[in-house]
Amino acid sequence: MGAESEILNNKIFALVDCNNFYVSCERVFNPKLNNMPVVILSNNDGCVVSRSQEAKALGITMGIPYFKVKNIIEKNDIKVFSSNYVLYGDMSERVMNLLAKFTPNIEFYSIDEAFLDLKDISVKDFTAYGKEIRKTIFKNTGIPVSVGIARTKTLSKIANEFVKHNSKLNGVFNIVDFHRMDKLLGQVPVHEVWGIGGAFGRMLMSKSILSAKDFRDASEFFIKDKMGIIGLRTKYELQGTSAVDLDEVLEPKKAIMSSRSFGKYVNNVNELEEAISQYTIRATEKLRLQKSNCNSINVFLMTNHYKLTDKQHTESKTITLPEPTSYTPDIIKYATFVLRKLYRKGYNYIKAGVLLSNIVPESPIQLNVFLQNRDHAKRDRVMKTLDNINVRFGRDTLKIASSGLSQNWAMKRQHISQRYTTNWNELLTINIS
Ligand SMILES: [Mg+2]
Repeated sequence: MGAESEILNNKIFALVDCNNFYVSCERVFNPKLNNMPVVILSNNDGCVVSRSQEAKALGITMGIPYFKVKNIIEKNDIKVFSSNYVLYGDMSERVMNLLAKFTPNIEFYSIDEAFLDLKDISVKDFTAYGKEIRKTIFKNTGIPVSVGIARTKTLSKIANEFVKHNSKLNGVFNIVDFHRMDKLLGQVPVHEVWGIGGAFGRMLMSKSILSAKDFRDASEFFIKDKMGIIGLRTKYELQGTSAVDLDEVLEPKKAIMSSRSFGKYVNNVNELEEAISQYTIRATEKLRLQKSNCNSINVFLMTNHYKLTDKQHTESKTITLPEPTSYTPDIIKYATFVLRKLYRKGYNYIKAGVLLSNIVPESPIQLNVFLQNRDHAKRDRVMKTLDNINVRFGRDTLKIASSGLSQNWAMKRQHISQRYTTNWNELLTINIS
């Protein structure tokens, strides 16, 4: 990396994560629980969702069903609590309000985690700042937190993980100018890197990419080919180049929705089919961009509930596909099939949509043995060509005929400006007289 990119890329992120958050909330109000093994159960007391350090040491794993560890719990007198989400939500708010005083640029990432952008804070010693954050949160709420500080969000996640497993760090690990990065990243299993996860992790391990370091050093071409732009950004992040800003998520989306209100009431099933086809095209483009397939689709249809004089019909239906796919023509076929089941004659529909869910990485693909005669490679090539042309020459340059050519149902956008930069037909024109 050249000096120039170092200068351009001068971000500093702190990831602040509450330790064993639900257990810690219980302990604040019940100090007798300190130093005791404690677990918190999910809704209906189904699974273990939070564990104290002592409970972890006794071998209680995250997410395990309660009945499976009942024996260990009784034998070791582990204290058990049902989730008290009102309490945890309120404690979370207090922690987040305090964190917001340390920087105006903050992302509330989950109930017990926040990313802080420290770039514009006038401090020189980020480690000391991290300690100050930790002290403030503990003093005001009683909740212990871990702080990981790094040049990228992905690295701050890694630093934070080391804090939790290394008491010598005293709750703060600053790797902004850390000199033994190779050794550090070599210790992080690749599937534990933020945004990579189990399925990609297995694929990478089969290619001998075992650690965060291996991933950082793997070929750009290979990563882009197998994991798309998301994988590439993770690689840059591990190299120390910030590629994910606050409020940006690196993980592939778990569900992709495309829906819109129509520009007029639609009661003709052919027009609805065009709309559903168009939404499916959009959603599947996004699906392929993140190198994923979906296993389920949901289609919904609704009338205008505010128009009290109209008959109302709102319904949605989900179906499971015979195999994971991102092949637009197939998904359109299933989506329009569902639509025709939902559709009722004589209703004024105002909105419809498609939701792709049960999303999995596109490789390794699990094929349905009964459908194996299909030429998957050819179908992939067709979709790739379609996407490439549409990226190059503008949206919908090439499209699938079922989405309709006139699209009378489309949203009214009479006041929209031209797409100067993304559509060849809407470039700025200058008349020279
Ligand atoms: Mg936590």
